Amino acid sequence: MDLDLSPQDLAFRDEVRGWLAGALTPAFRDLAARTSGVFSEPPHVLDWQRVLDDQGWLVPHWPAEVGGLGWAPLQRFLFDQELARAGAPVLPGMGLKLVGPVLYTFGTAEQKARWLPPLRRGTEFWAQGFSEPGSGSDLASLRTRAVRQANGDYVVNGQKIWTTMAQHATHMFALVRTDPNVKPQRGISFLLIDMAQPGVTVRPILSASGDHEVNEVFLDNVHVPAANLVGDEGQGWTIAKFLLENERGGSTYGPALVADAARLRAAFDALPCAGDPLLRDRLARTQIQAMALELTELRIVAAMTAGDDPGPISLATKLVASEIRQDIELFGTEMLGLDGLALPNTGPERTAAARYLNSRAWSVFGGTSEIQLGIIARAALAL
Ligand SMILES: Cc1cc2nc3c(=O)[nH]c(=O)nc-3n(C[C@H](O)[C@H](O)[C@H](O)COP(=O)(O)OP(=O)(O)OC[C@H]3O[C@@H](n4cnc5c(N)ncnc54)[C@H](O)[C@@H]3O)c2cc1C
Repeated sequence: MDLDLSPQDLAFRDEVRGWLAGALTPAFRDLAARTSGVFSEPPHVLDWQRVLDDQGWLVPHWPAEVGGLGWAPLQRFLFDQELARAGAPVLPGMGLKLVGPVLYTFGTAEQKARWLPPLRRGTEFWAQGFSEPGSGSDLASLRTRAVRQANGDYVVNGQKIWTTMAQHATHMFALVRTDPNVKPQRGISFLLIDMAQPGVTVRPILSASGDHEVNEVFLDNVHVPAANLVGDEGQGWTIAKFLLENERGGSTYGPALVADAARLRAAFDALPCAGDPLLRDRLARTQIQAMALELTELRIVAAMTAGDDPGPISLATKLVASEIRQDIELFGTEMLGLDGLALPNTGPERTAAARYLNSRAWSVFGGTSEIQLGIIARAALAL
């Protein structure tokens, strides 16, 4: 396997790096540095989304007919690497990475034309309504009920939970039960719900850090037009599996972890405790683990470029990334001593405690680490 970059790849990387030097203003860098959760928050992050869209680099992973660029896997990787190195805000993925690909894969021509342009432009903002109280890992047990009316429209009743950034969402894509009388997976459908209508109530859940990132969403006789059903009725589980594969496997984690570990290292080196050999050893191990994950992801990219199946290793990246992320943020608080416990966030160095507390969620969202281990065991060990 050849991991050296070709002259074309190096030229592409330099082009991205050069563009970022101008486009990523101090205000955008500051937004990223202040973010203690996974994604930077609307409305400001949507300004960054539009800067990328204007440059034509917002959805390189989408097919060309819906605005994608058909970049090779390595170009996408290098692009992510440059964004992370430069300290760019992380765009919320619910629209761009989750429902966008669902719409261009399963949606009708009318649905693509209706939903994809405002999603890209950030004039509409999406939340993911999958989890419910009692239905997280066991998603197929979800109970939110959609009943079809004589005219084909739906009336939806139920509750979603842990809905990231629903307080900013104009729309929510949701799994709902349309048929309670068949095998649970067969009775689920995928609906697009307008949040600005009677019957939709968003109630905040504050995280341990005090951040408002997740919510409960209550649906009380909510109207959903027939045109907002994606795929066929009862096809929701198939669509959800496609979406969850994108959520768990379609991301690269190494570049952001390597960049954040390097930032942590720079901050650590300026502290009085920088000479402590035990701390240095611990930080070096974390940095090496981040680099090893990045190299593993490059191996996956190399396999994909060669047209090979990367195999079960690609299932492990989110699990490993969660552990490294939690190590980085724990070290970030500990190296600051008592200052590392400071809340709320009033500046980049004061986000340490919030980042640590929020990092605990990494081993839960998008499928818990235990669930990932089960998937890996079945795929890799053929259990
Ligand atoms: C910060 C954050 C953001 C989130 N954002 C969203 C969002 O935007 N939209 C959305 O729909 N959901 C979201 N979620 C929900 C997330 O997907 C669920 O929390 C997750 O799937 C786990 O489900 P649960 O919370 O019901 O836990 P449970 O499924 O009840 O799990 C509880 C514990 O039991 C373990 N467990 C459960 N089943 C098994 C098993 N079969 N084998 C081994 N161990 C098992 C789990 O690993 C866990 O430790 C978010 C969660 C968090 C923390």
